[in-house]
Amino acid sequence: MNERYSRQILFREIGPDGQQRLLNSHVLLVGCGALGAAQAEMLARAGVGHLRIVDRDFVEFTNLQRQTLFKESDAAERLPKAIAAKIRISEINSEINVDAIVADVNNSNIEQLIDGVDLVIDGTDNFQVRYLLNDACVKNGVTWIYGAAVSSYGTTMTIIPGETPCLRCIFNEMPDAGSSPTCDTAGVIMPIIATVAAAQVSEALKILVGDTDSLHRSLMQFDVWANDRQRIKLDKPNPDCKCCGQHIYEFLDADAQEFAAVLCGRNAVQIAPPKPTEIDLVSMAERLRSIADVKQNEYLLRFISDENELTVFRDGRAIVKGTDDISAARSLYAKYIGT
Ligand SMILES: [Zn+2]
Repeated sequence: MNERYSRQILFREIGPDGQQRLLNSHVLLVGCGALGAAQAEMLARAGVGHLRIVDRDFVEFTNLQRQTLFKESDAAERLPKAIAAKIRISEINSEINVDAIVADVNNSNIEQLIDGVDLVIDGTDNFQVRYLLNDACVKNGVTWIYGAAVSSYGTTMTIIPGETPCLRCIFNEMPDAGSSPTCDTAGVIMPIIATVAAAQVSEALKILVGDTDSLHRSLMQFDVWANDRQRIKLDKPNPDCKCCGQHIYEFLDADAQEFAAVLCGRNAVQIAPPKPTEIDLVSMAERLRSIADVKQNEYLLRFISDENELTVFRDGRAIVKGTDDISAARSLYAKYIGT
C-alpha cells in the first residue's frame, strides 16, 4: 500500500482493509463552497478514490477567507469552483479521480448525480437544495450527511434512509426564504466551517470503512465563539414524516425548477435557461465584444453592463450581480443571451 496513507492505516479503525475501501469509494459533494472545499480536501487526502463535485458558482475574492481549496488566481480568473477544486485536488493527490460538474443542482438532475455513489455530503448553502437532496437520497436509499454553518454556529446530522430520521423528520417544513441568517448577511468564520466539515468527514470515513457502530447518531450543534456544543440523540425515523414515512417526495416531484432565483444575500440573481442547452462561449464572446469588455475562459464568460456584472456558463445559466430584482435580471438575460 502507498506510504502516503501509512499514518491513516496505523489508525486501527481504518487499517489496510479500510484504506482499500476508501480507495474504492465514490462520494458526491453537493456544493463546493466553504464546507464543500474543506470536505473535498479531507476526502482527497484520505484517499477516497472517486469524488464527484458539483457546484454552480465561480470563485470570488470574498471566498478566500474560508474556502481553503482556492487561491487568488482562481478568483482573478473567476474559475468555476468545481473546476478550481479539481485542479487543486490533482496537485494534492493525483491518484484519485475527480469528476467536476459545473451545474445547478435541481430536480431534473439530482437523481442522476447521486446515481452510483456510496455517499453524499452536503456542502450547499441553502435549504431548497437540502430538502431536494433529502427526497432524492431517501427515495434511492443513499446515505447523506447534512451540514450547515453560518456566523460561528454550525450543525450536522447523518441520514441513513430507513434507519435514522431524515431531514424532514427533524425539520418538517423548509424555513421561509429570508427567515434564516446566511453567510452573506450574518458573516461566517473559518473555524466553524472546519468544525462542521470535520464532523461530516469523520462520519463519511466511518461509513465508507463500514464502522457504522461508531456513527454519532445525533443532531450535533456547535458554536465555536460561544464555546457551546450540543448533541441531541436521534431515535427512529418518524412514521408520519412526509418524506421517509409516507414516501411523498414534494421537492423531487415539484414542477420544473424556477427559471430565476435570487441568490440570498448576494445581491445577485441566477437565471437558468428554460430547457437544457449548451452555449458556444467563443461565438457568444465574439458577439458581445462590440458592446462590452468580455472576459472569457473555457467555462464561462463575463462582462459588465452598466451596474451589473453578468457571468454566463456553458450550460446556459447566468448569474447577474448587482441586483436582487428578478425581472431586471431576466430582461438583461433576454437582451444579451436570448432564450
Ligand atoms: Zn423522515
